[in-house]
Amino acid sequence: MSENTEQKGAAEPAFHEGDQANGATTLPVWNSTGFRYSSAEEMEKVFNGRAPGFVYSRIANPTLAQLERRLCLLENGSAAISFASGMAAISSVILGLASAGDEIVSSSSIFGGTYSLFSRTLDRLGITTKFVDPSDLSALESAISDKVRAIFIESMGNPALDIPDIQAIASIASKHGVALVVDNTVATPELFKPLDSGADIVIESTSKYINGTGTAVGGMMVDSGRFDWGNGRYPHLTEASAKFGGMAFAASLRQGVFRDLGSCFNPNGAFLMSTGLDTLRLRMERHCSNAANLANVLSEKGFEGVNYPGLKKHRDHDIARKQFGGAFGGIVTLRLGSKDAAFKFINGLKMAMIVANIGDARTLAIHPASTFCREFDSDTRLAMGVHEDLVRISVGLEDAGALVDDVVGALETSNSL
Ligand SMILES: *Cc1c(COP(=O)(O)O)cnc(C)c1O
Repeated sequence: MSENTEQKGAAEPAFHEGDQANGATTLPVWNSTGFRYSSAEEMEKVFNGRAPGFVYSRIANPTLAQLERRLCLLENGSAAISFASGMAAISSVILGLASAGDEIVSSSSIFGGTYSLFSRTLDRLGITTKFVDPSDLSALESAISDKVRAIFIESMGNPALDIPDIQAIASIASKHGVALVVDNTVATPELFKPLDSGADIVIESTSKYINGTGTAVGGMMVDSGRFDWGNGRYPHLTEASAKFGGMAFAASLRQGVFRDLGSCFNPNGAFLMSTGLDTLRLRMERHCSNAANLANVLSEKGFEGVNYPGLKKHRDHDIARKQFGGAFGGIVTLRLGSKDAAFKFINGLKMAMIVANIGDARTLAIHPASTFCREFDSDTRLAMGVHEDLVRISVGLEDAGALVDDVVGALETSNSL
């Protein structure tokens, strides 16, 4: 694949480079479980890492390798691994960093699935999580014990839409020699590249904006390649660190947790993600401008319950402006005053669809407290920013005026405007 970088047009990671052999302009899909060698000696070499090559698609595949390379370039990283889902990426990365008896420090304002992974599944396996408000830097720092193996943050909290100061958190992480893992799903690499602000590992649920049209579930982790894995905090990586330096984690993950858990992505899904990536920049511009317009119009109409990082009244507006270069994402949340009003509002939407994901071309709405956050008690939900009356809108690519009309009409239906 490295020879493809010489090709005309290949320097721009925003577009797929195609395949050199046939001149295809899209990602070639290699639906092959295994890869063939002409001698036992040759295969032994590949298995032992003494010759390049693919062996088995649970570990690596040429189609997946191209998608990984693209996202790696887009996030300014050094190594990437694609996963079956965003959750597979998060669980594998944490299991690659922490063992039973270890701890992680996580933002409390995170996606419900991740909260469940940390507070239940990993807890049962002996990895405990201390949840902190990521805007409280001293609380975050004092949560870092000798047992902490990762700090986990979302660059834009889903669905609270808080924006942690990644540079400030990265300097705390680096002072303590702890890896900073940033879930960049909501911001996307078009708005923000966490590795450039000192994060060590980035995670994307590619199911969302990367895919862009809701056609496949997938995940990705990108490693900066700069972290010192031999610093004593990661005894299981000391040997790999001596051998691979900053690439120790990515190499160990692929040949360890990732391979053993079998949470690999698939070539057909990679094709869909790659097609989505081609238009990510353009789509994010429209998601962001549509969301900003909707939030501004609702504010101007005097609707107090609108939350969007682009609004000056948003608590983290200044950090968002500094970090995201003037764009503020495609999610708007509304507080309707009660669960009943929230349901009436959702039922009053005509164009927007009632759907659980985000990042689709179409506008999607959901009531988080009764759906993906229903399992958590009310204190936990509040820490996640999920109020009983909250509605999350993933703003799509529709005509800006039609979108405003739809939301305003539904607000009127629910007597909220
Ligand atoms: C959706 C989402 C995930 C989980 O990704 P899946 O692809 O659904 O497994 C993780 N983090 C955030 C912020 C998400 O929005």
